[in-house]
Amino acid sequence: MLSFSKIIFTALVIVVVWQGFKLFNRFKQVSENEQPKQTRHKKKSQPKTVAQEMEKCPECGVYHAEGNAHRC
Ligand SMILES: [Zn+2]
Repeated sequence: MLSFSKIIFTALVIVVVWQGFKLFNRFKQVSENEQPKQTRHKKKSQPKTVAQEMEKCPECGVYHAEGNAHRC
């Protein structure tokens, strides 16, 4: 009877750990899904701002801020 109760207790512990691991994986996936979205937004916004703000001068080839008066 002692060994039977031990097996039941071990099975219960395994189930609890398994369920806890599943929950942990869910939270991990949620946090991973949220993080790439933030990095994608940053990656998308950075080249746009660089392309909009920086302009290459056709005469001297120097990249200068768009709108600012550039003198070669
Ligand atoms: Zn120039």
